[in-house]
Amino acid sequence: MGYAPPYPDPSLPPVRVNLYSDTQTKPTRAMLEAMLVAEVGDEQAGTDPTVRMLCERMAALVGKESAVFLPSGTMCNEIAILTHCRPGDEILAHRTAHIATSEGGAPWALTGASVLPLDGAGGKFDVATLTASFRPRTRYAPPQTLVSVEQTSNLGGGAVWSLALLNAVAETAHTAGLATHMDGARLMNAAVASGVSAKDMAAGYDSVWLDFTKGLGAPLGAVLAGTAAFIDAAWRWKQRLGGSMRQAGISAAACLYALDHHVERLAEDHENARVLARGLAQIPGITVEQPETNLVFFDTSGTGMTADLIAGHARRRGVAISTMGKFRGRACLHLDVDRPGVEEAIGVLREAARASLAA
Ligand SMILES: *Cc1c(COP(=O)(O)O)cnc(C)c1O
Repeated sequence: MGYAPPYPDPSLPPVRVNLYSDTQTKPTRAMLEAMLVAEVGDEQAGTDPTVRMLCERMAALVGKESAVFLPSGTMCNEIAILTHCRPGDEILAHRTAHIATSEGGAPWALTGASVLPLDGAGGKFDVATLTASFRPRTRYAPPQTLVSVEQTSNLGGGAVWSLALLNAVAETAHTAGLATHMDGARLMNAAVASGVSAKDMAAGYDSVWLDFTKGLGAPLGAVLAGTAAFIDAAWRWKQRLGGSMRQAGISAAACLYALDHHVERLAEDHENARVLARGLAQIPGITVEQPETNLVFFDTSGTGMTADLIAGHARRRGVAISTMGKFRGRACLHLDVDRPGVEEAIGVLREAARASLAA
């Protein structure tokens, strides 16, 4: 699978339109200026004022008692799992969930917990599927201790879990004695697209985190939130794993800047995603999954060509996309791609599909 990021390659033209991932954003000048004047301290000792401010903002945003700043979303997921689970435990999550597919097997490797993959359209599962996956609490079955959802679902096409489904899944889990975790890598995309607040969406979840390096445009950082006792326990794992930092206020300042300036504009990315989807749908042989947020997934099988082949043609014309399967391409909208960039990408991908058909 062509999941190689668009590294600078002297044999290729520079990337003009980078739809490879919403992680590819560069900090804006204004964000860099906010970083430059950030008040800093010793994050590990709990005395970095900017990190403290960010954690307070995050806790309020998602309606939790406390929060902890971490270098990455992956570390948020894995520290949450280490905190919720014990070796031998089983986590229920969608088959495509980042924790199951994209973290190097960390739940198994670090916690010694396994993930039971659940099925469902758009990276989501319903209450009936969840209930059917519950095991009897006998000495034979792995203890099921955690249900995890991904808002939005990345490999589910950027799909948004409705508030009703989030609440129903959380209530079902809690009634059965399981804790709940929300991988909120793109939680603000979900909030902006649906009009439901992050706080309401997270209400049924014992832990929740937000990534600042996706569409929010910060260079690094994610914040994990939960009860004060949960975050205390998470801090021990952060220390053990080497996730405690020093003058981290430099990066927290970028995250605070993103909360102030880059949340409402996610609506532009969603609109650009719809424009891109409409343009791609008109290319012969391409079928498009209707985007709900900033991710546009499309199928190239009607062109007779793999997604990699089309991505290669596009890359040679300065447009980078990623591929997520033999015939599945993904284009991510974010603050470094504007409407003219979207129009250019549509033209280049149309050419790429035509070139593929001719080849
Ligand atoms: C990107 C992503 C992560 C991991 O975040 P990093 O900050 O890249 O470690 C986790 N879950 C989902 C759904 C993601 O898209």
